[in-house]
Amino acid sequence: MKPRTKEEILVVNLSRRMASISQHQQRYAIQCLTKKNAYIGKRKAWCNMCGGDLEERNTGNLVDTLTSEIVCPHCGSILNVQMLQNHRPYFIHNLYYTIVTTCKGYQVIRHFMFKQIDKKGSNVTYQLSEVAQCWQNQRGREYIIARSCASNAMYYDYWLLSSDMTLKGNVNRGYYGDSKYEINPDAIYSNVKLIPILKRNGLRNNFYGIAPSALTKSLIRHNDAEYLLKTRQIELLKYFVNRDYTKCPFKESVNICNRNKYIIEDASIWIDMMNALKAIGKDLRNRLYVCPNNLIAAHDNAVIMKRREEEKKVAEELRKKAYEANVSYISDKNNFLDLIISNSNITIRVLQNIKEFEEEGNAMHHCVFASQYYSKKDSLIMSARDKNGNRVETIELSLKSFNILQSRGVHNSISPYHEEIENLIKNNIDKIKKRCA
Ligand SMILES: [Zn+2]
Repeated sequence: MKPRTKEEILVVNLSRRMASISQHQQRYAIQCLTKKNAYIGKRKAWCNMCGGDLEERNTGNLVDTLTSEIVCPHCGSILNVQMLQNHRPYFIHNLYYTIVTTCKGYQVIRHFMFKQIDKKGSNVTYQLSEVAQCWQNQRGREYIIARSCASNAMYYDYWLLSSDMTLKGNVNRGYYGDSKYEINPDAIYSNVKLIPILKRNGLRNNFYGIAPSALTKSLIRHNDAEYLLKTRQIELLKYFVNRDYTKCPFKESVNICNRNKYIIEDASIWIDMMNALKAIGKDLRNRLYVCPNNLIAAHDNAVIMKRREEEKKVAEELRKKAYEANVSYISDKNNFLDLIISNSNITIRVLQNIKEFEEEGNAMHHCVFASQYYSKKDSLIMSARDKNGNRVETIELSLKSFNILQSRGVHNSISPYHEEIENLIKNNIDKIKKRCA
């Protein structure tokens, strides 16, 4: 994208004049990022630092002690053992190296691709190529100057190293920019330079494993990021920055934590717990809730309490709805309520009200209440009891066809009285039809 605004032109010009990476910065990268490997194949073994062969007897010993290190007899490097299935004479390692610096009042984060090339028979070689720069002004506005990418994916090999470093557009379109430029590097140059606002907001030379440009941007833009950094709630700061938050969640409770010198060890578990506590109406300013000694146990407990509360609510809601239907049930089935069909063994009665549906459903362990059979206009629901008044089956009779739709015992079983009940209903069906007038 062509720079258009005054500030874009300024940033692009400043970027062009930036010094290239210094000898010291390069040495630091090599010192931090070099992987020293002994590659051990089935027949051959070599040192990646000098490319020299490793002696048979050394490698023979190594196979037995895979975790151990080996000293190269040629160059003296201490090497990590890498076992290979087949012989490979060539390896490339790609890593990110970042320099945090300033330029004319801008915070500048420079990202380099660090390439280590291991070749059998040769000394190790390195390439360092700058791939992206994040320029942030004192208001947190960001400009990205970077090479092109072969695709949108955020992998090392996608940078087109032959392309020019150019201004990238629309990185401020979302609140946070394009994440492929928010690189979390494998090493950061130890001499970190910061603009005054970042120093004031508490940043030094530790980025706590957060992508540096994301952390600086958040610290410039949001007071709550500064608050979390200064109160050493680092886990919560990571959570805050990584999720592009603008406000600290449960800030009042975080205040309580800070007052009690309580450091949140796992932010997402803590937030989860707080959400559960909030849902069940607990006091979020109570130290006992928000600063638990055993966070995991407190979290699990809160989640269980919340689930119970939800189940209770659902059941209560269902009951409430059911009892609202009571009046219409009684008026719908008014003609049948005093109906009694019986013989010497069995007495069949229409369920009188919603309360009886609930009792029937609970006693028989079936869904006559939960599935709201009371609201079925064309069905008559009856309870069949034995001589002693025990429930034996619940009957659904169609008021259209006058067929028995179902008759079920405990847990939807078929009781010993099943046939007798069916016959009893059939023999008395006229009684029911008469009441349908
Ligand atoms: Zn060597």
